[in-house]
Amino acid sequence: MTETVAMKTVEQHLADVLGLLPVGPVVEVALAEANGLVLAEDIHSAVDLPPFDNSAMDGYAVRREDVSRIGTLLPVADDIPAGRTDIPDLKGGTAHRIMTGAPMPQGADAIVPVERTDGGTDVVRIDVVPELHAHVRWTGEDIATGALALVAGGTLDAPQLGLAAAIGRASLPVHRRPRVVVLSTGTELIEPGEPLMPGQIYESNSVMLVAAAQAAGAQASRVRFVTDDVIEFRAAIEAATVNADLLLTSGGVSAGAYEVVKDAFTGAGVTFDKVGIQPGMPQGFGFAGAVPVITLPGNPVSAFVSFEAFVRPLIRKALGHTALTRPVVRAALARPVRSPEGKRQFQRGRYADGVVQLVGGPPSHLLASLAMSDCLVVIPEDVTDLDAGAEVDVWQLR
Ligand code: AMP
Ligand code: MG
Repeated sequence: MTETVAMKTVEQHLADVLGLLPVGPVVEVALAEANGLVLAEDIHSAVDLPPFDNSAMDGYAVRREDVSRIGTLLPVADDIPAGRTDIPDLKGGTAHRIMTGAPMPQGADAIVPVERTDGGTDVVRIDVVPELHAHVRWTGEDIATGALALVAGGTLDAPQLGLAAAIGRASLPVHRRPRVVVLSTGTELIEPGEPLMPGQIYESNSVMLVAAAQAAGAQASRVRFVTDDVIEFRAAIEAATVNADLLLTSGGVSAGAYEVVKDAFTGAGVTFDKVGIQPGMPQGFGFAGAVPVITLPGNPVSAFVSFEAFVRPLIRKALGHTALTRPVVRAALARPVRSPEGKRQFQRGRYADGVVQLVGGPPSHLLASLAMSDCLVVIPEDVTDLDAGAEVDVWQLR
């Protein structure tokens, strides 16, 4: 019997995993906390932007009718720097020196940039005939009071946060970041920085998965990994899942003995499956008590690929995003590739100019190759052989 017969598809498993969390609750957060989050409600502007007519240039506020020829001399009656609030009216036959962003004085109808004058402070010579309303920025021309400024469902990136601040918002309603806790398992694991004994390896999955979860937008943290001991594992979970929205475990779900995650969770709210994905075949999902849990395999590349395939989309769903997957581009393979039938294979690669180079090979312990990659190369379930130049989907990781 081949493994492929009973395997769950990637789509089925993704659908199950996406059922673990709803879209997150709406919370009001300070702008500094909102970077990359999804806006939960439409935002209308409470102010006009600009709030008042003002100068677009450093220069002179004039009456256009006073400057009908090049070389006109006007006495400079006053200075209007940005931020001045008592704005003197402009009297006929005079100019005010004015700075960018300063309010237009009553009586002025054009700005002459300083570059088109001699820069005088008592008397100014004007070397241009200005157009009516030249270099004036009008009240509300950017956005008017009551107009829709930011649309619910949109991602708050730098420009949107800038606009929110410009219209006077100090905070915005967003979908709360899911709180993700990562727990690695393995008696062979040692904390980086500590001495390594024969048979031991440094624990790398929790740091990697926390970073991946944070990059996806979650509020993620790790707890100290545990040995392959069910009692120790259960105790760690009880402590770790207080105030968690999602638990990620690593390791202990394969077909061997001492599979601590499987042993602890089988028949206790978690379903274990073989999924048609390579790497990352052994997967589990369900609930640890009331807390949603995804059990990832321990091989580092398996853990990363299954995070990308299943966990990242779930985090993005919880954040309120509608696009759950990575941007995909088509690329030509630089060399031929073989892939097992019945499994969607994710190889590691480097993409440039429409061509993808595979980095390392399929084995799921090749973490250095993963670290040198910038994309995942997807070989579909029904494809076993591809020639150099064949087109494939590439998931861009950066
Ligand atoms: P497991 O899924 O527990 O059977 O582990 C599969 C392989 O991944 C083994 O070679 C483990 O030593 C390795 N591994 C498991 N967990 C980790 C981890 N947290 N960090 C690094 N390697 C791991
Ligand atoms: Mg293990």
